[in-house]
Amino acid sequence: MRILVEHSEDKKERSNIITMSQVAKEAKSKDPSVINATIGMLYDENEKFYTFKSVSEVDKILKDEEKFPYTNTIGVKPFCDAVLKWVFDKHLPYFLEHEHLSIVATPGGSGAISNVFSNYLNQNEKVLLPNYMWTNYIQIGYENFLGYQTYKMFNDKGTFNLEDVKKQIQELQKTQKRILFVINDPCQNPTGYGLTHEEWLDLINIINEAATKEHPFILLYDMAYIDYDKEGKDYTRETIYNFRLFNENVLTIFAFSGSKTLGLYGLRIGAMIGLNKNKENIEDFTNACQFSARAKYSMSTTYGMYLIAKILGEEKYLKPFEKELTEVTNFIRRRSAAFISSAREVGLKTLPFKCGFFVTFECKNPNAVYEYLVKKGVHIVPLDYGMRVAICSINEEHCKILPKIIKEAIDAVSR
Ligand code: PLP
Repeated sequence: MRILVEHSEDKKERSNIITMSQVAKEAKSKDPSVINATIGMLYDENEKFYTFKSVSEVDKILKDEEKFPYTNTIGVKPFCDAVLKWVFDKHLPYFLEHEHLSIVATPGGSGAISNVFSNYLNQNEKVLLPNYMWTNYIQIGYENFLGYQTYKMFNDKGTFNLEDVKKQIQELQKTQKRILFVINDPCQNPTGYGLTHEEWLDLINIINEAATKEHPFILLYDMAYIDYDKEGKDYTRETIYNFRLFNENVLTIFAFSGSKTLGLYGLRIGAMIGLNKNKENIEDFTNACQFSARAKYSMSTTYGMYLIAKILGEEKYLKPFEKELTEVTNFIRRRSAAFISSAREVGLKTLPFKCGFFVTFECKNPNAVYEYLVKKGVHIVPLDYGMRVAICSINEEHCKILPKIIKEAIDAVSR
């Protein structure tokens, strides 16, 4: 008999991204001409790990007592205040006045997602995920005894597939009371898609129709890459302002990632924010998520909280950070423009892309294409249905030349 319990027998790291990125890193350390487009972290135009200078500056002035002591599970007040202000921006007063909300610090967006999965469905129920997704959702679901069902992200026109979302919600409501719906928007991982305001308004209508007292609806808004949207902060926060249109049976939970917004990947800091029209639902949210946090990892890093509290909360640090964020968004835009236009030239069809860290295309035999490309010194990630290119981690020149190399690899493998 295996010593592992049955539920854990099948636990094997399913996401190969971290492993592949280690392989790529190793290859690049031996040969700098290697192209490593495997992981969702920012690299500069010299393909060196990118640290926001404004973040480093604040890091230098943090005192020991702002880094190392225990604090509390919910998160220190300056952190909570600063993140709320950052997420809701000029709409914060509206939400504070008209709705109920609460924030809990988490170890990255991952911690937030995990706490949502463990508190908003019963065991063996299914979470509704997009068919193109960050596959770690499946793993986090399994860890919390959940299955999953997928909605098709795109229709024939290459826009958001509202019909399928509606269909999958109705289907799932036949077998379970609650719907836990995950959307990663904008700059979706892995496609780079982002919903327009019109698409969001239609989605809100669909959700409102589905959400009743008997069928509560939980919208997990994974906003990991929100601050890299080419439309800018006013536009993305307008999307969030539209969440006021949800009815009282919809609980919105935001998963904020300090990894992505501030480049603090290894510091493991993020937050979850619950928003609802009903006070009790938010009290429940705080109690359950605080409990889960304490049970799973005790608390988030004090270091990360105070760093973010200062950068996002104090005008003198915020301004230079915002300026840098705009610069970074611009260099990512240039990279994606270079990639997309070369892809068009060589006939490499990407999935609908707007902006962000990744571009993805479908192809046959992704693993064979991966092996072929590795031999050519190119590392991108094979998925079940195609491959993902992390343009965040390679420079513009590499973005320009990569589609041709990829197209040749696909053709060679399919011969
Ligand atoms: N959501 C998406 C879509 C991601 O791609 C990631 C990380 O890659 C995360 C959430 C979580 O990131 P973290 O836990 O580092 O904040």
